[in-house]
Amino acid sequence: FAINMNQLQLEDELGRGAYGTVKRVLHKPTNVLMAMKEIRLELDQTKLNAIIMELDILHRAVHPSIVEFYGAFFIESCVYYCMEYMDAGSLDKLYGVGVPEPVLSRIVACMARGLKFLKDELQIIHRDVKPTNVLVNKRGEIKLCDFGVSGQLEKSLAKTNIGCQSYMAPERIKGESQNALSTYTVSSDVWSLGLATLEIAVGQYPYPPETYQNVFAQLTAIVHGDPPELPDSYSHTAKDWVNRCLVKRPEGRASYAQLLEHPFLRGDQTRPTDMRGWVVRALSWREEQRQLQEHSGDAPRPS
Ligand code: ADP
Repeated sequence: FAINMNQLQLEDELGRGAYGTVKRVLHKPTNVLMAMKEIRLELDQTKLNAIIMELDILHRAVHPSIVEFYGAFFIESCVYYCMEYMDAGSLDKLYGVGVPEPVLSRIVACMARGLKFLKDELQIIHRDVKPTNVLVNKRGEIKLCDFGVSGQLEKSLAKTNIGCQSYMAPERIKGESQNALSTYTVSSDVWSLGLATLEIAVGQYPYPPETYQNVFAQLTAIVHGDPPELPDSYSHTAKDWVNRCLVKRPEGRASYAQLLEHPFLRGDQTRPTDMRGWVVRALSWREEQRQLQEHSGDAPRPS
């Protein structure tokens, strides 16, 4: 069935991204809560039609580690994209000062299974693997969103803020000046997966904070420096797994099948890991942080 705006009751705003806002909506005919992303684009009708058609492939992206797509429509020059509502939000706001190793292994296994599914079944390379694109719900499920399926949509998004934290593999950074598309392969996503894993593990982006303000320094560190590693507080198995993602030569990186077979992830589905409990604790940590920020905002400025 096709979704349209008349069927939706708008509720709260869930967040703002680089290209628009995400709201929670109730789909009245089915009584299903959804997340609706509004992307503002100045495009003509043909291009908007092309985007809606390209997004249609998402109806086939049905997998336990992929955020479900319900449909898209456009009004004037905005594309509205409706997807599964994930009631604990994105991982970047939940990992706190880092997550325990069993939780890390579960999160990463879900990400790797989702990425493998996209590639094997739909020939889709994600292209934007990072903690903000991993969503969580209170059942403890971990799912990927925001993957590149629409070439037209990608071209239309003005890439104004080339983020201050880059998850791009070295070959992509080097290739940007030549031909970015030809240098992008599935193993570029494996690099980003490794970097995301480090960030989730330790609770911060793995390259030094001095480079956040200086895009050039950061890209130089990625291309010319040694890849970052998990600290020694993690098991040898976990460290080895991350090392197999963060190989600078793309040919040297592990495949998804190898990563899922690695002792760090093998057996994940049969290991009991209390993901619900972790989400409850992560949400209360996030709420505490929010209150702290609110209070520091209220405090009178020192004169
Ligand atoms: P970005 O451009 O940074 O990737 P998005 O526009 O995708 O951000 O999303 C902005 C925020 O909206 C996210 O950080 C997340 O908290 C929230 N959000 C996005 N999609 C969903 C969803 N399906 N369910 C719940 N919250 C969501």
